[in-house]
Amino acid sequence: MERIETDVVIVGAGAAGLTAANKLKDAGESVVVLEARDRVGGRLWTGDVDGAMLEIGGQWVSPDQDALIETLAELGLETYTRYREGKNVYIAEDGERRLFEGEIFPVPAKTEGEIVGLIEKLDALVAEIDPDAPWEHPRAKELDEISFAEWLGTQTDDEEAKLNIGMFIAGAMLTKPTHAFSALQALLMAASAGSFSNLVDADFILDARVVGGLQQVPLGLAAKLGDAVRLNQPVRKIRWNPDDLAEGVVAVTDSIEVHAKRVILAVPPILYSRISYEPPLPRRQHQLHQHLSMGFVIKVHAVYETPFWREQGLSGTAFSPYELSHEAYDNTNHGDTRGTLVGFVSDEEADGVFALSAEERKAKILESLSHYYGPEALDPVVYYESDWGSEEWTRGAYAASFDMGGLARYGADLRKNVGPIHFACSDMAGKGYQHVDGAIRMGRLVAEQILNEQSL
Ligand code: FAD
Repeated sequence: MERIETDVVIVGAGAAGLTAANKLKDAGESVVVLEARDRVGGRLWTGDVDGAMLEIGGQWVSPDQDALIETLAELGLETYTRYREGKNVYIAEDGERRLFEGEIFPVPAKTEGEIVGLIEKLDALVAEIDPDAPWEHPRAKELDEISFAEWLGTQTDDEEAKLNIGMFIAGAMLTKPTHAFSALQALLMAASAGSFSNLVDADFILDARVVGGLQQVPLGLAAKLGDAVRLNQPVRKIRWNPDDLAEGVVAVTDSIEVHAKRVILAVPPILYSRISYEPPLPRRQHQLHQHLSMGFVIKVHAVYETPFWREQGLSGTAFSPYELSHEAYDNTNHGDTRGTLVGFVSDEEADGVFALSAEERKAKILESLSHYYGPEALDPVVYYESDWGSEEWTRGAYAASFDMGGLARYGADLRKNVGPIHFACSDMAGKGYQHVDGAIRMGRLVAEQILNEQSL
């Protein structure tokens, strides 16, 4: 067993862990980052699939994400805007394909009125929520006891309005069905992006991409740390002595023991229980970690010889709460002559297609894309499904959220350290929650916590 001594050991080389490691290093602390996988980046991963550069995990940057934007600038990374010229597509319940511009879907006037009214109500509620402390809202408990589906039902009888508003938070963000999370959890999701209006504005929330892919961020952050990042090192055990904090903490992998003053768990909270703790984590943490679970979505990539939809005057932006792929976009890479579409199949729809063979699943998903873009969509030159549910060190996508009642009950304790064990991840962020921006914010916060508490 190799033995290393350092000031802070960081478990996980995602955006959160690598941000924390750099901040600590810049402040003069020594750091070691232990990463389970054979690569850095976690949920940021740019892959070459059959000659196509695909962003298998996170990719978009929105203008409010200033922690991410600052990091891009520090690393000298360039961004480019998502293609969005032309008309968007909406598919109605009867399968009719309707073209539209702007954010409001081409739905009957009554439904449009209901959608606008719901957005206004949600914006007003979201304005009352502090994304860093949603549990402090005076009605937090009440809003956490009602599912988002039930809450929508108390606001309108219009099924199409409910499905569309539900889709923005459920299929598109938390990637869980609307009955599986609370109204408070939905408000946090919207508050983390500034407002509900921001979430429904695809031009805002899915604004820019990074030339070369967003994995450049963790790659750039890891490069600054050099040999301090150790790959293929899943941490199996963390030990510390509660009676003598000066002894510090030990993080143990199959081949390395790192002795440090502090440890940062920069992994999704659903993976905390993959590690053994000596002594065990306190009762509160044992309980609270059981109330978080990962959402589930398939990100589908289809590459074509040309971006053929542009010739039809289409932007590539497409939505329908009635389609297998509830949203899809032009995802053509910077400077690429080929055209790429990206579609998303969420939660129970994803379960359904994973029960099929790979060929049947591909056929069904491409058929759904063809409803938006026409028959040419059926025949891509490269096709790939990002399947994060099968990734041992992630187990779902995009991120973790609380079950009904969990946010009000446990949220306040999620970021609290346990002795020398600190926590950081996008899945516990306020602003930037479930996004790379939130991961960077949490990485910065935990580093500050450690630098400010020199009590060990
Ligand atoms: P992670 O990236 O999950 O990093 C955790 C790291 O810990 C991983 O590298 C993991 O291998 C490692 N690890 C786990 N357990 C152990 C262990 N026991 N020992 C050692 N290492 C361990 N965000 C956006 O901002 N924009 C987007 O467009 C976007 N789209 C997304 C699309 C998909 C398909 C997915 C999956 C995510 C998307 N996200 C997006 C979310 C974003 O990618 C994440 O919020 C962010 O990358 C999480 O960073 P993190 O460091 O908190 O966690």
